[in-house]
Amino acid sequence: MCGIVAYVGGKRAEPLLIEGLKRLEYRGYDSAGVALLTDEGMKIVRAVGRVANLEDKLENLGGLQGTVGLAHTRWATHGGVTEANAHPHRDDRSGICLVHNGIIENYAALRTYLEEKGHRFHSETDTEVLAMLVGELYEGDLERAVQAALREVTGAYAIAVICEREPGTIVCARKGSPLIVGVGNSEFIVASDASAIVAHTTQAVTLEDYNVCKVTREGFRTSTIDDVEITPKVMQLELDLEQIELGTFSHFMQKEIFEQPKALRNTLRGRIDEYEGKVVLGGLTSFAKDLVKAHRVLLTGQGTALHAAMIGRYLMEDLGKIPATAEYASEFRYRNPIIEDGTVVIAVSQSGETADTLAALQEAKDRGALALGVVNVVGSTISRETDAGVYLRVGPEIGVASTKAFTGQVTALTLVSIFLGRRRLMSAERSMMLLEELKRVPERIERVLEQDRTIKRVTERYVERNNWLFLGRGYNYPVAMEGALKLKEISYIHAEGMPAAEMKHGPIALIDEGMPAVFIANRGPQYEKVMSNIAEVRARGGHVIAVATEGDEHIKTVAQDVLYVPDCPDCLSPMLTVVPLQLMAYHAAVLRGHDVDKPRNLAKSVTVE
Ligand code: GLU
Repeated sequence: MCGIVAYVGGKRAEPLLIEGLKRLEYRGYDSAGVALLTDEGMKIVRAVGRVANLEDKLENLGGLQGTVGLAHTRWATHGGVTEANAHPHRDDRSGICLVHNGIIENYAALRTYLEEKGHRFHSETDTEVLAMLVGELYEGDLERAVQAALREVTGAYAIAVICEREPGTIVCARKGSPLIVGVGNSEFIVASDASAIVAHTTQAVTLEDYNVCKVTREGFRTSTIDDVEITPKVMQLELDLEQIELGTFSHFMQKEIFEQPKALRNTLRGRIDEYEGKVVLGGLTSFAKDLVKAHRVLLTGQGTALHAAMIGRYLMEDLGKIPATAEYASEFRYRNPIIEDGTVVIAVSQSGETADTLAALQEAKDRGALALGVVNVVGSTISRETDAGVYLRVGPEIGVASTKAFTGQVTALTLVSIFLGRRRLMSAERSMMLLEELKRVPERIERVLEQDRTIKRVTERYVERNNWLFLGRGYNYPVAMEGALKLKEISYIHAEGMPAAEMKHGPIALIDEGMPAVFIANRGPQYEKVMSNIAEVRARGGHVIAVATEGDEHIKTVAQDVLYVPDCPDCLSPMLTVVPLQLMAYHAAVLRGHDVDKPRNLAKSVTVE
């Protein structure tokens, strides 16, 4: 689930591998390690905690020589966070060394089999089992041994493997977890994420599931695990270094919150036909007829992407005029769902690699649904598995807590809803008005961002409180959920988000003197109802922080603190109301002294179930 970097070429590998690991740090991890093929054989160094700890260890050893090596950041799934469980793992017979992202599901049976054959294990991981299996099957050809081993395993993996007996070779492979091979000048960098590659080359080979790639300084060969040779797909990486560097900001999360106006301008660029009042989505054009005739839309995702999907549900019904539901992908995939004729499934994911979302998508496709993707990472698995889709174009999101991808997802879903609505029941006039308003969202977000200091001051007032409520209605109910998620994931404060009306059905019992309740109370059809809910909280001693519409003076008489957002149509308000909540979560985490970009226990893209 975390990071892989491997290098073969003419340079000293160690600094390159460490630099690569640092670029992958944002994905979240708990330990790290490197392996190098040196003149004295394989050398492995591993450390619990940050890559900096690994660097210290390497420095104490005087550094490792060698031009071929592997490196890994681990996000533990099988076995605790210990040095013994950190990757790389090696076998006990053939000089094999391996790093792995993902889960080998049949590791227990394989381990028993290998133990019966006399292998002795030193870790609790599923990964070591795979290293031993490759070693067991090794007969002088690493590529063949890896292929043979992968034919025996079930689960998800991206792996890179080296072998003492074939010192100039890396063999890598993937199934269900991303891996690309950066192609340089007589050098290659294998990585689980383009950000570890772009400092060296922008040419890369993408691997498909069950692909194996053998890489040497001279070149590479791609095949399947059954050794059928395949023609590699070389692509141009579109990242540039500036996009993955902090610049003047303190954290990536902060940078990405402030990048939202620019990011959303990119999401919208070229997609609005002002004269016709239409949305132009190249990716959907060839499916427009099926979409217009669709009977139902099912949106799915996990975490922040699910919250965007929930807003998408309101948008689809309100603007697209089509029945819609939004559901956790993890629940959808296992509940034997009924997919009627004319169902469109929309998978929402920043990375395009989210395991549950991908599985839900496949389930829906198998049952006959038309599959669309709303994804940020170009060429990701979900983008390839869908029939059509819309890219967010918000640039790489490095902060573990998703911000610009969320507003990008909501923007993209708004576009899809208007695309549909205009072809169904929406008048040209309404669509023109909405598109005009949509174009103004980025400048309105800029106005919210200008209030950063006020937002920080308000956060300071409540940052010591350990329980918060986030409440909203209609379009802003999912925003309340998102506000609570942001706060808990980076500041570790317990927070719950829910429909404001739900509070009376139980959670109201939690409210006591001084409990912060954040209300999204912008002017919209349910404004008066929200006012009543605010009164209920105040009556019980709770502190109300309201996100309200500029010019609303009344709100100051009922809420202790008010954060203003510009006026806009209700259906577009989530893109504005979420911004103060993102900033509050950011400031709360900084004030509490947490590592905002590397929150504990979290990984950026969840590629395991
Ligand atoms: N399942 C493996 C482990 O627990 C790999 C985890 C990862 O993807 O980092 O070691």
